[in-house]
Amino acid sequence: MSQQKFNKARFEAAVTRQWQHLGLSAASEMTPHQWWQAVSAALAELLAAQPTAKSAKNQRHVNYISMEFLVGRLTGNNLLNLGWYDEVKAVLAEQNVDLSHLLEEEVDPALGNGGLGRLAACFLDSMATVGQSAIGYGLNYQYGLFRQSFVDGQQQEAPDNWRRDRYPWFRHNAALDVVVNLGGKVVKNAEGNALWQPAVTLRGEAWDLPVIGYRNGVTQPLRLWQAAHAHPFDLSLFNDGKFLQAEQQGIEAEKLTKVLYPNDNHQEGKQLRLMQQYFQCACSVADILRRHHLAGRPVTALPDYEVIQLNDTHPTIAIPEMLRVLLDEHQLAWDDAWAITSRVFAYTNHTLMPEALEKWDERLVKSLLPRHFMIIKEINKRFKKQVEQHWPGDEVLWAKLAVVHDKQVRMANLCVVSGFAVNGVAALHSELVVKDLFPEYHQLWPHKFHNVTNGITPRRWLKQCNPALSSLIDETLKVEWANNLDALKGLEKQADNKAFRRRYRQIKHDNKVRLAQYIQRLTGIEVNPNALFDVQIKRLHEYKRQHLGLLHILHCYRQLRDNPQHDAVPRVFLFGAKAAPGYYLAKNIIYAINKVAEVINNDPLVGDRLKVVFIPDYRITAAELMIPAADLSEQISTAGYEASGTGNMKLALNGALTIGTLDGANVEIAEQVGEENIFIFGNTVDQVKALKADGYDPKKRRKKDKHLDGLLKELEKGVFSGGDKHAFEPMLQSLTKGGDPWLVLADFADYIAAQARVEALWRDPEAWTRAAILNTARTGMFSSDRSIRDYQQRIWQAKR
Ligand SMILES: *Cc1c(COP(=O)(O)O)cnc(C)c1O
Repeated sequence: MSQQKFNKARFEAAVTRQWQHLGLSAASEMTPHQWWQAVSAALAELLAAQPTAKSAKNQRHVNYISMEFLVGRLTGNNLLNLGWYDEVKAVLAEQNVDLSHLLEEEVDPALGNGGLGRLAACFLDSMATVGQSAIGYGLNYQYGLFRQSFVDGQQQEAPDNWRRDRYPWFRHNAALDVVVNLGGKVVKNAEGNALWQPAVTLRGEAWDLPVIGYRNGVTQPLRLWQAAHAHPFDLSLFNDGKFLQAEQQGIEAEKLTKVLYPNDNHQEGKQLRLMQQYFQCACSVADILRRHHLAGRPVTALPDYEVIQLNDTHPTIAIPEMLRVLLDEHQLAWDDAWAITSRVFAYTNHTLMPEALEKWDERLVKSLLPRHFMIIKEINKRFKKQVEQHWPGDEVLWAKLAVVHDKQVRMANLCVVSGFAVNGVAALHSELVVKDLFPEYHQLWPHKFHNVTNGITPRRWLKQCNPALSSLIDETLKVEWANNLDALKGLEKQADNKAFRRRYRQIKHDNKVRLAQYIQRLTGIEVNPNALFDVQIKRLHEYKRQHLGLLHILHCYRQLRDNPQHDAVPRVFLFGAKAAPGYYLAKNIIYAINKVAEVINNDPLVGDRLKVVFIPDYRITAAELMIPAADLSEQISTAGYEASGTGNMKLALNGALTIGTLDGANVEIAEQVGEENIFIFGNTVDQVKALKADGYDPKKRRKKDKHLDGLLKELEKGVFSGGDKHAFEPMLQSLTKGGDPWLVLADFADYIAAQARVEALWRDPEAWTRAAILNTARTGMFSSDRSIRDYQQRIWQAKR
């Protein structure tokens, strides 16, 4: 496989067609946005015309189904992966157009919430790069994740209209249209077989984005389904005079892929969400089978050629959909349909938190998908026999293992029972999946359970976002590392090279200056690039404990007021986080951080020794700017609740030191970088469990710790809210009377102690830089290329 050649003449001709199409008479008449549009559309056209390299034979094709793909801006990334960046830059320079400015015109496609959606995007990049033949299946939301701003410190949400209709990287292939049914009832046909008579028929349109392998000639699709009405309308209804009903169908169709649900790690049991899930799965299953038949293969051979990887339980309904098609459309017997289905699906678990494990009210499933509900009941009935054989008469256990129970359909159970593989996303998490979540399933089928530690693509998360560090690595290693991240090990010896350390430190400093300018433009706040940049960027969630970070900020501020001469390490605390619009407590934490920031940033006593900035609208593009500028990476979730984390990997790779709990992939990061190059603190998973079992009482903690009590009192007294004593009540209530479910107070003292170790190391810049270099050198295993190879060996291509 080799890189595709850039053809300047064809590119220029394609750009010309773009401005001519706009009705302009010269390229110079284009606005910067039109330039971005034209260049991207021209590249998409060139790409579509090129033959794509074939990937390895004898491997199962991967169908990665995910409700979210948080791809971020594509134009710059595609240029980098194609290896055409410099050529295109030169062509545009001839027209006095600056490529890097032009790339700023792109609005992030934000078709995901956070880590889960970004993982899906990193995996597509890596599958194309390592030559794993694959397709991503998702939804083409008209509105991605909401845009965030702050008004008096409170989060405001605005719709994210990213103008999908004019997004230049899309290719719509009308030949791939799919028909999707919903509602209605099931009747028996003449042979006594079930026949679904749906009430509503929709059309799924395939909108493809190109996923480009790193300089290997591979392009494969991310196929995003968009709902439309089945026909202009249902003409038969129209002719019957029931045109209002016909019109109704069209209206419903457009609603279906209108908006991404903004919840992260939390289920909202809404009918529209289930409709989205089914729509996506029905389109994807039909597409997979269509391709399989076109290749001239019998349906019984499906598991030899195709695997369907479910990113969390969101696409679980694909399982009964596959069975339905095999049973009702291919007329297979149950055992044959089951033999196929149960060898095709694999499930990735992303959380142990009960509020995030999907359960659907059986009445909802039945009304929307009556035939699927019958099939799910049949799976449940047959599985019950199996459980009865292993644990005769154990009703309590059955209540736990059942797929349908208490009038609810449990999607995770359906996945484990029906799939051939289940994986967690970090070593610790996979262990907890077996021990705490699915111990009995593990007894039944130990071979189904795996770990695949998450990863990140080094193309976007180092080469693209940190060009200066990338050049230093190129120059030092003189090998291609972007598709072979273990090569970074070669930097280890540079940690002891003073000249290298100076250059590495200078690059970090320059990245901090770049971020400081962005902060100034965006918020008007001036931050000192010589200060320690302390970064907590991730969705706002109680388990992620941004409020623990806040308590540490209050601690730093207290120190300065108690002793104005205190020789504090200057810090800039940087936050980036969106809270789900209905997550009241999370929004209160944002408010608290913003109000505390206001007081600290305007206190002359503090000067530039302490600044707190909550960067609004955290998204991929903001992450790309913040990560290369971070000195300290805050990964402080309650142990046992962050399945893996991937922000932790991006930051460590870019030379931020981690302060973190022994949670998720932090455990593996600590193993890789060495415990002297990371700041680990806090209760472990076992200690968290023990605390909870022993009736942990935060009020007692508070009483024993006068310092902590003083900090909480300030919040309670309204010191940071203009005297308003109730401003932070939801957060404070949760921390104290509410029982502090995430053990913030229990970890406070150890966190402060770890932060003191951070300061001690920071005071020795050579030692700090040495540790930072070792973080870059030793985090090669967190490349998502490695994750994909693990999936291949353990799950997709494993001997069956
Ligand atoms: C990587 C990433 C995440 C995930 O961050 P975690 O710290 O692992 O939760 C969320 N949002 C964006 C924009 C990201 O790039």
